[in-house]
Amino acid sequence: RSSGDDHLDSLIRQRRDLVGPTSMLFYDQPIEMVEGQGVWLFDGDGKRYLDAYNNVPVLGHCHPRVIDAVAQQMVRLNVHTRYLDEALHRYAEQLLGTLPLDSGRLVMTCTGSEANDLALRLARLHSGKQGVIVSAAAYHGNTAAVTEVSPSSMKQGQVPDFVVCIDLEPLNDESLDAAAYLDTQVANAIELLDERGFGCAALLIDTIFSSDGVYADPAGALAPAVRRVQHAGGLLIADEVQPGFGRTGSEFWGFARHGLMPDIVTFGKPMGNGYPVAGLAAPEALLAELSAQTGYFNTFGGSSVAVAAAQAVLDTLVEEELQANALSTGNELLSGLRGLCDEFPQLARVRGAGLFIGVDIVSADNQPDPLTCSRIINALRHRGVLIGAAGLYGNVLKIRPPLCFKPEHGHLLLEQLRQVLINDLG
Ligand code: PMP
Repeated sequence: RSSGDDHLDSLIRQRRDLVGPTSMLFYDQPIEMVEGQGVWLFDGDGKRYLDAYNNVPVLGHCHPRVIDAVAQQMVRLNVHTRYLDEALHRYAEQLLGTLPLDSGRLVMTCTGSEANDLALRLARLHSGKQGVIVSAAAYHGNTAAVTEVSPSSMKQGQVPDFVVCIDLEPLNDESLDAAAYLDTQVANAIELLDERGFGCAALLIDTIFSSDGVYADPAGALAPAVRRVQHAGGLLIADEVQPGFGRTGSEFWGFARHGLMPDIVTFGKPMGNGYPVAGLAAPEALLAELSAQTGYFNTFGGSSVAVAAAQAVLDTLVEEELQANALSTGNELLSGLRGLCDEFPQLARVRGAGLFIGVDIVSADNQPDPLTCSRIINALRHRGVLIGAAGLYGNVLKIRPPLCFKPEHGHLLLEQLRQVLINDLG
């Protein structure tokens, strides 16, 4: 045993004794990260890890533009949105310009959970209904209200009666008419919610279905289902916390791949490259309905420093052409993974768009295989590559590197994955 092992054991004990058990550590052998730079993370022993997991540092870890913007603003002033702030207006104008909303307005929060919580309030207030349709393994955040519409957070996915879930697993069958399937599922869900007396206030979806296992295709498949919800008086809340800000490559927002017109768009994670900033965009009329009742204030949401961070991220995304890089590097990675799929029977199929990729891991009899999925992820971690798991059964490799990920990083990931499949599964 090295002194490094003793140090890690001591950290694990401290964690158990001092930090709530609510948040689990990654990996069988936890890592103490001490530094980040671009696509790399470094542990206490100076070991380097390729970060293909974290959807937050969209520009790369510790990007100097964001650090400078935050530091300079912190030195000058940090107040909340009860004062006029030209920088907030500039940011809002730029961000709203990327969205197809009529008379859209921006509300800044600190987390994606707060944004989704507010979106639910708006949808219920506007529709006068309570029911919500979500995907079967969805995660939309951690507030009490949002947890209720996050089946992945509930024991055995059990949700309250005002929530109906859509199972995406049948979409793995490529001969299925995805648009017709989703439309039928949503029609049934609306009927069920009506029967139960709740009605349908919203379809709340992460348009790349990150927690369900990255169902990115076929583009356009969601459109009929969404029209049906809107026709029934419900709103489409597009949760862009995962797919937004260029990650899917072809479009800046994930919902755009489906040709959708959302009523409310929520966003977060990559928006501040690690600085906690999130928010939603909604039509002015919808927000006015809430203002007439109670209003909404968020002390840190949209503060001067939050806006500085968000502006630096948006500017850098454009200047460094990271969306285009997500598309080209993502396509290369997708095709490399498809090659591995042909070679190794454990890899059943690859799904994804841009630098948001899922790989289904299955057993010899073609069943979801969460155990092998976990072994692959942990073996990769020992080889210095970090990815995660997703899916209703936890059997999907989830790959979401910073958007500055280059083909050589993709090659490294593919090579290490190949080594794991050949050598580490025994
Ligand atoms: N929506 C989606 C799709 C998410 O993945 C997450 C976070 N994993 C959230 C919302 C909640 O965001 P936050 O953790 O910033 O509250």
